[in-house]
Amino acid sequence: MLTPAPINLEVVVSPMVDLAIGGQFSPTTATILSGATEAVLVDTLLLADDVERLGERIEATGKQLTTIYITHAHVDHYFGLEALLERFPDARGVALPSVVESARSAHEATREQAKQWFAGSALDCTVLPDAMDGETIILDGHELHAIEVGQADIAPSTILHVPAIDAVVAGDVVYNGVHQMLALSGPDDWPRWIESVDKLAALNPKVVVAGHKRPELPDDDLAAIVDGTRDYIQAFIDELADAENARALVARMQQRFPDHMNPTALIVSANAAVKRKQRGAVGGEA
Ligand SMILES: [Zn+2]
Repeated sequence: MLTPAPINLEVVVSPMVDLAIGGQFSPTTATILSGATEAVLVDTLLLADDVERLGERIEATGKQLTTIYITHAHVDHYFGLEALLERFPDARGVALPSVVESARSAHEATREQAKQWFAGSALDCTVLPDAMDGETIILDGHELHAIEVGQADIAPSTILHVPAIDAVVAGDVVYNGVHQMLALSGPDDWPRWIESVDKLAALNPKVVVAGHKRPELPDDDLAAIVDGTRDYIQAFIDELADAENARALVARMQQRFPDHMNPTALIVSANAAVKRKQRGAVGGEA
Protein backbone atom coordinates (compact mmCIF):
# COMPACT_ATOMS: atom_id res chain seq x y z
CA MET A 1 0.00 0.00 0.00
CA LEU A 2 1.28 3.47 -0.84
CA THR A 3 1.67 5.78 2.12
CA PRO A 4 0.80 9.35 1.26
CA ALA A 5 3.62 11.93 1.39
CA PRO A 6 3.74 13.39 4.90
CA ILE A 7 3.93 16.91 3.51
CA ASN A 8 2.37 18.23 0.33
CA LEU A 9 4.29 20.88 -1.59
CA GLU A 10 2.48 23.29 -3.90
CA VAL A 11 4.27 26.01 -5.86
CA VAL A 12 2.34 29.15 -6.82
CA VAL A 13 4.04 31.15 -9.58
CA SER A 14 3.23 34.77 -10.40
CA PRO A 15 3.25 35.67 -14.11
CA MET A 16 5.96 37.87 -15.62
CA VAL A 17 4.91 41.54 -15.45
CA ASP A 18 5.83 44.79 -17.19
CA LEU A 19 7.58 47.30 -14.96
CA ALA A 20 6.48 50.94 -14.85
CA ILE A 21 10.17 51.91 -15.22
CA GLY A 22 10.55 49.77 -18.39
CA GLY A 23 11.47 46.15 -18.82
CA GLN A 24 9.90 43.19 -17.10
CA PHE A 25 9.95 41.42 -13.76
CA SER A 26 10.55 37.67 -13.63
CA PRO A 27 7.90 35.14 -12.63
CA THR A 28 8.28 34.56 -8.89
CA THR A 29 7.35 31.62 -6.66
CA ALA A 30 5.70 31.14 -3.29
CA THR A 31 5.50 27.63 -1.82
CA ILE A 32 2.73 26.14 0.30
CA LEU A 33 3.77 23.19 2.50
CA SER A 34 0.82 21.39 4.05
CA GLY A 35 0.67 18.50 6.49
CA ALA A 36 -2.20 16.64 8.16
CA THR A 37 -3.66 19.74 9.81
CA GLU A 38 -1.23 22.66 9.35
CA ALA A 39 0.35 24.67 6.54
CA VAL A 40 3.52 26.74 6.20
CA LEU A 41 4.04 29.30 3.45
CA VAL A 42 7.49 30.18 2.10
CA ASP A 43 7.71 33.71 0.61
CA THR A 44 4.71 35.85 -0.22
CA LEU A 45 4.77 37.31 -3.74
CA LEU A 46 4.08 41.03 -4.07
CA LEU A 47 1.34 42.12 -6.48
CA ALA A 48 -2.16 42.43 -5.00
CA ASP A 49 -3.71 40.01 -7.54
CA ASP A 50 -1.01 37.38 -7.06
CA VAL A 51 -1.20 37.54 -3.26
CA GLU A 52 -4.99 37.24 -3.44
CA ARG A 53 -4.62 34.07 -5.55
CA LEU A 54 -1.98 32.78 -3.15
CA GLY A 55 -4.36 33.31 -0.22
CA GLU A 56 -7.04 31.33 -2.07
CA ARG A 57 -4.60 28.45 -2.66
CA ILE A 58 -3.70 28.40 1.04
CA GLU A 59 -7.39 28.32 2.00
CA ALA A 60 -7.99 25.54 -0.54
CA THR A 61 -5.61 23.25 1.37
CA GLY A 62 -8.10 23.28 4.25
CA LYS A 63 -5.17 23.40 6.69
CA GLN A 64 -4.35 26.00 9.29
CA LEU A 65 -1.60 28.38 8.18
CA THR A 66 0.75 28.68 11.15
CA THR A 67 3.87 30.27 9.69
CA ILE A 68 5.03 32.43 6.79
CA TYR A 69 8.77 31.99 6.30
CA ILE A 70 10.72 34.66 4.37
CA THR A 71 13.87 33.47 2.58
CA HIS A 72 15.47 36.86 1.97
CA ALA A 73 14.74 40.57 2.19
CA HIS A 74 13.64 41.30 -1.36
CA VAL A 75 10.38 43.04 -2.17
CA ASP A 76 9.09 40.17 -4.34
CA HIS A 77 9.55 37.68 -1.49
CA TYR A 78 8.05 39.50 1.49
CA PHE A 79 5.80 42.39 0.49
CA GLY A 80 2.68 40.22 0.54
CA LEU A 81 3.30 39.59 4.24
CA GLU A 82 1.01 42.25 5.71
CA ALA A 83 -1.96 41.29 3.51
CA LEU A 84 -1.49 37.59 4.27
CA LEU A 85 -1.24 38.19 8.03
CA GLU A 86 -4.54 40.10 7.81
CA ARG A 87 -6.12 37.21 5.95
CA PHE A 88 -4.61 34.56 8.26
CA PRO A 89 -4.48 36.31 11.66
CA ASP A 90 -3.31 33.16 13.49
CA ALA A 91 -0.19 32.89 11.32
CA ARG A 92 3.17 34.37 12.21
CA GLY A 93 5.69 35.88 9.75
CA VAL A 94 9.24 34.79 10.52
CA ALA A 95 12.77 34.87 9.12
CA LEU A 96 16.26 34.26 10.42
CA PRO A 97 17.54 37.28 12.40
CA SER A 98 20.00 38.33 9.68
CA VAL A 99 17.19 38.46 7.11
CA VAL A 100 14.96 40.51 9.42
CA GLU A 101 17.85 42.97 9.89
CA SER A 102 18.48 43.09 6.16
CA ALA A 103 14.77 43.83 5.53
CA ARG A 104 14.67 46.45 8.27
CA SER A 105 17.69 48.36 6.98
CA ALA A 106 16.28 48.69 3.45
CA HIS A 107 12.56 48.72 4.23
CA GLU A 108 11.69 52.35 3.46
CA ALA A 109 13.70 52.28 0.23
CA THR A 110 11.99 49.00 -0.67
CA ARG A 111 8.54 50.54 -0.14
CA GLU A 112 9.49 53.37 -2.50
CA GLN A 113 10.85 50.88 -5.05
CA ALA A 114 7.62 48.85 -4.95
CA LYS A 115 5.60 51.99 -5.77
CA GLN A 116 7.89 53.09 -8.58
CA TRP A 117 8.39 49.74 -10.26
CA PHE A 118 4.87 48.38 -10.10
CA ALA A 119 2.80 51.59 -10.24
CA GLY A 120 0.11 50.70 -7.75
CA SER A 121 -0.29 47.01 -8.54
CA ALA A 122 2.15 46.02 -5.76
CA LEU A 123 1.02 45.82 -2.16
CA ASP A 124 2.53 48.14 0.40
CA CYS A 125 3.95 46.42 3.45
CA THR A 126 4.44 48.11 6.81
CA VAL A 127 5.42 45.02 8.79
CA LEU A 128 8.56 42.91 8.98
CA PRO A 129 8.87 39.21 9.79
CA ASP A 130 9.77 38.34 13.39
CA ALA A 131 13.26 37.00 14.06
CA MET A 132 13.12 33.24 14.67
CA ASP A 133 14.33 31.68 17.90
CA GLY A 134 16.54 28.97 16.50
CA GLU A 135 16.32 27.57 12.99
CA THR A 136 13.42 25.13 13.09
CA ILE A 137 9.76 25.38 12.13
CA ILE A 138 7.50 22.47 13.07
CA LEU A 139 4.83 21.41 10.58
CA ASP A 140 2.55 18.72 12.04
CA GLY A 141 5.50 17.21 13.90
CA HIS A 142 7.95 17.43 10.98
CA GLU A 143 10.97 19.68 11.30
CA LEU A 144 11.66 22.27 8.61
CA HIS A 145 15.17 23.74 8.76
CA ALA A 146 15.99 27.34 7.92
CA ILE A 147 19.58 27.44 6.67
CA GLU A 148 21.55 30.61 6.05
CA VAL A 149 23.74 29.98 3.01
CA GLY A 150 25.15 33.49 2.61
CA GLN A 151 25.40 34.95 -0.89
CA ALA A 152 22.77 34.55 -3.61
CA ASP A 153 21.32 37.44 -5.62
CA ILE A 154 21.74 39.24 -2.30
CA ALA A 155 23.30 38.35 1.04
CA PRO A 156 22.11 37.20 3.49
CA SER A 157 20.09 34.54 1.71
CA THR A 158 18.49 31.47 3.22
CA ILE A 159 16.78 28.26 2.15
CA LEU A 160 14.18 26.08 3.87
CA HIS A 161 15.01 22.37 3.95
CA VAL A 162 12.09 19.93 4.25
CA PRO A 163 13.78 16.58 5.02
CA ALA A 164 10.48 14.63 5.27
CA ILE A 165 10.02 15.00 1.49
CA ASP A 166 13.66 15.67 0.45
CA ALA A 167 12.73 19.15 -0.70
CA VAL A 168 14.43 22.53 -0.52
CA VAL A 169 12.56 25.79 -0.97
CA ALA A 170 15.48 27.81 -2.20
CA GLY A 171 14.51 31.47 -2.54
CA ASP A 172 16.83 33.14 -5.04
CA VAL A 173 19.77 30.82 -4.35
CA VAL A 174 18.66 29.01 -7.51
CA TYR A 175 16.71 30.01 -10.60
CA ASN A 176 14.96 27.74 -13.08
CA GLY A 177 14.87 28.83 -16.72
CA VAL A 178 15.04 32.56 -15.90
CA HIS A 179 17.95 34.98 -16.33
CA GLN A 180 19.60 35.49 -12.93
CA MET A 181 19.93 38.83 -11.18
CA LEU A 182 23.67 39.52 -10.97
CA ALA A 183 23.43 43.31 -10.76
CA LEU A 184 23.21 43.45 -6.97
CA SER A 185 26.51 41.64 -6.40
CA GLY A 186 30.02 41.77 -7.83
CA PRO A 187 32.86 39.53 -9.05
CA ASP A 188 33.94 38.74 -5.48
CA ASP A 189 30.41 37.64 -4.59
CA TRP A 190 29.75 35.37 -7.59
CA PRO A 191 32.01 32.46 -6.54
CA ARG A 192 30.33 32.67 -3.12
CA TRP A 193 26.93 32.38 -4.79
CA ILE A 194 28.17 29.20 -6.48
CA GLU A 195 29.26 27.95 -3.03
CA SER A 196 25.76 28.64 -1.70
CA VAL A 197 24.37 26.40 -4.44
CA ASP A 198 26.93 23.75 -3.41
CA LYS A 199 25.61 23.91 0.17
CA LEU A 200 22.08 23.37 -1.11
CA ALA A 201 23.18 20.46 -3.32
CA ALA A 202 24.93 18.82 -0.33
CA LEU A 203 21.50 18.28 1.23
CA ASN A 204 20.78 15.84 -1.64
CA PRO A 205 17.26 17.12 -2.31
CA LYS A 206 14.97 15.52 -4.86
CA VAL A 207 12.86 18.67 -5.25
CA VAL A 208 14.20 22.23 -5.35
CA VAL A 209 11.85 25.19 -5.71
CA ALA A 210 13.59 28.15 -7.35
CA GLY A 211 12.64 31.70 -6.37
CA HIS A 212 12.16 32.56 -10.04
CA LYS A 213 11.16 29.97 -12.62
CA ARG A 214 9.47 29.45 -15.94
CA PRO A 215 6.02 28.52 -14.65
CA GLU A 216 5.78 25.31 -16.68
CA LEU A 217 9.10 23.81 -15.58
CA PRO A 218 9.22 20.96 -13.03
CA ASP A 219 10.88 21.34 -9.63
CA ASP A 220 12.71 18.00 -9.73
CA ASP A 221 15.00 18.55 -12.72
CA LEU A 222 18.07 19.07 -10.57
CA ALA A 223 20.44 19.27 -13.55
CA ALA A 224 18.53 22.29 -14.87
CA ILE A 225 17.93 23.91 -11.49
CA VAL A 226 21.05 23.26 -9.43
CA ASP A 227 23.74 22.71 -12.09
CA GLY A 228 21.99 25.24 -14.33
CA THR A 229 22.26 27.99 -11.70
CA ARG A 230 25.97 27.32 -11.13
CA ASP A 231 26.64 27.14 -14.88
CA TYR A 232 24.87 30.43 -15.46
CA ILE A 233 26.99 32.29 -12.89
CA GLN A 234 30.21 30.75 -14.25
CA ALA A 235 29.20 31.58 -17.83
CA PHE A 236 28.54 35.19 -16.82
CA ILE A 237 31.99 35.41 -15.17
CA ASP A 238 33.67 33.91 -18.25
CA GLU A 239 31.79 35.96 -20.82
CA LEU A 240 32.27 39.20 -18.87
CA ALA A 241 36.04 38.68 -19.04
CA ASP A 242 35.91 38.65 -22.86
CA ALA A 243 33.07 41.09 -23.53
CA GLU A 244 33.88 44.46 -25.10
CA ASN A 245 30.66 45.96 -23.86
CA ALA A 246 27.34 45.14 -22.21
CA ARG A 247 25.60 44.51 -25.53
CA ALA A 248 28.16 41.83 -26.45
CA LEU A 249 27.81 40.22 -23.03
CA VAL A 250 24.02 40.11 -23.36
CA ALA A 251 24.29 38.59 -26.84
CA ARG A 252 26.72 35.87 -25.70
CA MET A 253 24.61 34.95 -22.65
CA GLN A 254 21.47 34.78 -24.80
CA GLN A 255 23.28 32.44 -27.18
CA ARG A 256 24.29 30.20 -24.30
CA PHE A 257 20.90 30.30 -22.55
CA PRO A 258 18.42 30.74 -25.41
CA ASP A 259 15.40 29.43 -23.49
CA HIS A 260 15.79 31.62 -20.41
CA MET A 261 13.01 34.10 -19.69
CA ASN A 262 13.28 37.80 -18.90
CA PRO A 263 16.21 39.43 -20.73
CA THR A 264 15.63 42.53 -18.55
CA ALA A 265 17.42 40.80 -15.67
CA LEU A 266 20.33 39.97 -18.00
CA ILE A 267 20.54 43.48 -19.47
CA VAL A 268 20.54 45.09 -16.00
CA SER A 269 23.17 42.59 -14.79
CA ALA A 270 25.37 43.09 -17.86
CA ASN A 271 25.22 46.90 -17.65
CA ALA A 272 26.18 46.88 -13.97
CA ALA A 273 29.00 44.36 -14.45
CA VAL A 274 30.55 46.09 -17.48
CA LYS A 275 30.38 49.50 -15.76
CA ARG A 276 32.11 48.05 -12.73
CA LYS A 277 34.77 46.40 -14.90
CA GLN A 278 35.46 49.66 -16.75
CA ARG A 279 35.72 51.59 -13.48
CA GLY A 280 38.13 48.93 -12.24
CA ALA A 281 40.24 49.28 -15.40
CA VAL A 282 40.38 53.08 -15.09
CA GLY A 283 41.19 52.75 -11.38
CA GLY A 284 43.96 50.27 -12.23
CA GLU A 285 45.68 52.75 -14.57
CA ALA A 286 45.59 55.61 -12.09
ZN1 LIG B 1 13.52 37.32 -6.15
